[in-house]
Amino acid sequence: MLPSPNLGDKRVMSHASSPPPPVLRFAPSPTGLLHVGNARTALYNALFARQWGGTFILRYDDTDTARSSDTFAEAIAEDVAWLGLAPDRVEHQSRRLGRYDEAVARLKALGRLYPAYETEEELEAKRQSRRRRGLPPVYDRAALKLDAAARPALEAEGRRPHWRFRLDGRQVVWDDMVRGRQGVDTATLSDPVLVREDGSYLYTLTSVVDDIDMSVTHVVRGEDHVTNTGVQIEIIEALSGWVPRFGHHNLLVLPSGEGLSKRLGHLSLRALREEGEESLAVAALAVLTGTSLAVEPVASLEALVARIDFAKISRAPARFDPAELSALTAATLLHLPFEAVANRLAGFGVGGGEGFWLAVRGNLARLAEAADWWGVVEGPLSPVVAPDDAAFLAQAAALLPEGAWDSDVYARWIAALKPASGRAGRALFHPLRLALTGRESGPEMKTLLPLIGRERASARLRGEPG
Ligand code: GLU
Repeated sequence: MLPSPNLGDKRVMSHASSPPPPVLRFAPSPTGLLHVGNARTALYNALFARQWGGTFILRYDDTDTARSSDTFAEAIAEDVAWLGLAPDRVEHQSRRLGRYDEAVARLKALGRLYPAYETEEELEAKRQSRRRRGLPPVYDRAALKLDAAARPALEAEGRRPHWRFRLDGRQVVWDDMVRGRQGVDTATLSDPVLVREDGSYLYTLTSVVDDIDMSVTHVVRGEDHVTNTGVQIEIIEALSGWVPRFGHHNLLVLPSGEGLSKRLGHLSLRALREEGEESLAVAALAVLTGTSLAVEPVASLEALVARIDFAKISRAPARFDPAELSALTAATLLHLPFEAVANRLAGFGVGGGEGFWLAVRGNLARLAEAADWWGVVEGPLSPVVAPDDAAFLAQAAALLPEGAWDSDVYARWIAALKPASGRAGRALFHPLRLALTGRESGPEMKTLLPLIGRERASARLRGEPG
């Protein structure tokens, strides 16, 4: 467990020798299924932590009780595990309300949090009136000017306050790990509401309190959070005085250019999993798309760890093409060692070992198709024998080698069959494949034949199910 420093402690990072191991977090709200864009954020955080021997926290931003659900939280845990990520620590904001109470008390004591009483309708009317006057629709801070008598009068009307953070109104700058020097002028923003009328807390506050408490060193998230960061740095500085590093990556978009939405269920990890996409292909595409690195299949997450470099992420949106994903799934399977798939193959009822896997992995669009090839190996299958080929196939059966059926049995067989039959090329090979596998194409026969075995091969060549 990391120490939980008191809010308000001025923590000083040691600059001596090597920096301490980083702490990163992925902080989804359990309000929907994760999509590939969320996977991109999760992977950047988790793999960066792995690269530097750091800590990866999965944090549920679940203070919005109306929209959060345990079912989505469980689905997120499942999806994160499917991606191959094992959080070092799991946190739930809903279990940390006491810490937010303390932060709120501190911000009030510092004079940075002030009560405001406007209703949503009143705020909307203010925004419209400012727009009509050509002014930006930011909050006019009327509540800051309320005098001592005004508050009880408003509360007597039955109003309850929400609480706003008083921004400094300055240029907040940081050195973004992806975007370089960034600045947000908080004078152009409304003072953010941190506590709702019903006393519940908003993400802008809870996220900052957690990042401080959990000693998060690097906040890596989508570029839709850049403005938030300007605001949150002000809050962090008010509470702690030490600011983590920030990195805002570009967002994934659909091939049409449309943004991904959790709510609309775009490209959810669950759907991709059910469609048989490989998690490593999803991870490779989610991490490498929209960077200056080539998108290519990887055989393990470790291979992606080595490629995590925030400076290589581009500024333009990254297009995520499901068709590219399918191709990458097939290419990934070709790279996977038997150990990586053994359990899943067994789950599909595949009894074959490494030899079978190496024989078929180059012919799969989806792992589940390995079961079809296992059916071809194990049989029984009805061989395809054209009448014109029957005599040739009977001859081929008679010439099946005796003795050990090792890796060169096919070569020995063909060496005998070719001169005996006088056939060559397609006329030689195609009828053999059709009879032995019942299919037009597939893995190399030299790898399949030893697996099919002499008995089944002999039956199939004679046109009998085997
Ligand atoms: N719950 C926020 C989100 O899903 C987290 C953003 C952050 O990383 O701070 O967008």
